Amino acid sequence: MTLPTIDQKFLVEFLTGLLNKPSPTGFSEMGMDYVRQALASFPELDLMLTHKGALLATQSGQRQDEPRALTAHVDTLGAMVKEIKSNGRLKLTQIGGYSWNAIEGEGCTVYTHTGNQLRGSILLDKASSHVFGAEVSESKRDEKTMEVRLDIRSNSPGETRAVGIQVGDFVSLDPRVEVVNGFIRSRHLDDKAGVAILVTAVKALHEAGLKPAQKSYFFISNYEEVGHGAAAGIPPEVTELLVVDMAAVGNGQTSDEFHATLCVKDSHGPYHYGMSQRLRRLADTENIPYQVDIYPYYGSDGGAFWRAGGDVAEALIGPGVDASHNYERTHLDALVATTQWVLAYLLN
Ligand SMILES: [Zn+2]
Repeated sequence: MTLPTIDQKFLVEFLTGLLNKPSPTGFSEMGMDYVRQALASFPELDLMLTHKGALLATQSGQRQDEPRALTAHVDTLGAMVKEIKSNGRLKLTQIGGYSWNAIEGEGCTVYTHTGNQLRGSILLDKASSHVFGAEVSESKRDEKTMEVRLDIRSNSPGETRAVGIQVGDFVSLDPRVEVVNGFIRSRHLDDKAGVAILVTAVKALHEAGLKPAQKSYFFISNYEEVGHGAAAGIPPEVTELLVVDMAAVGNGQTSDEFHATLCVKDSHGPYHYGMSQRLRRLADTENIPYQVDIYPYYGSDGGAFWRAGGDVAEALIGPGVDASHNYERTHLDALVATTQWVLAYLLN
């Protein structure tokens, strides 16, 4: 069969818009709202928010006897104010797993509990070469040595508190989105690329006037980066879960920025062999450029759902993302390939 046309311009524009919505885990409403508004324009979807804040979109299929779920997560890495230092700067606690080096020098926004937004940057506490010499390169980057330099006049905890900042305020990292020669370079392509792929697939079905083969749930998760995103909220009637999340690119990996990847095993063990085999056959039939890979330090919402007791077959596909949980990059080719794969799955 021929797959429906994918609106590549929409895919990149929607993704760029989503990347620019801050949504660290626990503070993802702005990202979720953006997704909900996009999906609300498709009358064939029923939308609901779970108590936990995830979005569940339901679409009826040509058959309803073996309902399926597809998931991607809108929450991202980020931080929270851990402490206001004696010099008025901030210590952070990380949200999600990443290396402190990966955010050194990055711009950030602090969201106060009073509704203010303050700008700043994340730096080593001994950042100046002219003052600290070799210590700048030799210091270990960790929660003790990294700080937020706020763009306000503050040298004391009192002055920082005066703008509304308190322990527990959320901090988002600047995504720095740039689209060049088909490459999309940004933080948080994990997993906003996956969300954009699902929304674009829904749009392609809509415009082609096609229904999924089976009743399908689209679950936009909001606690994936801390390990329990899909632990609740996916209806128990589903028989299969297709997780759409980034593929890990690097030395020794088959994944790259120009293919979709089927992950057959991650840190939590193998995915479902039968479902993975079916996805490979679909990709072969539809000439979708794909790789098969194993991710050594990786968990997904599939693992979260399985560990929570989900009785489903599960497979994981996604676009190759270079420098994941760092300043990431992918290519339109990988996004299109993954969207084709999602469409092939939905229609078969
Ligand atoms: Zn992810």
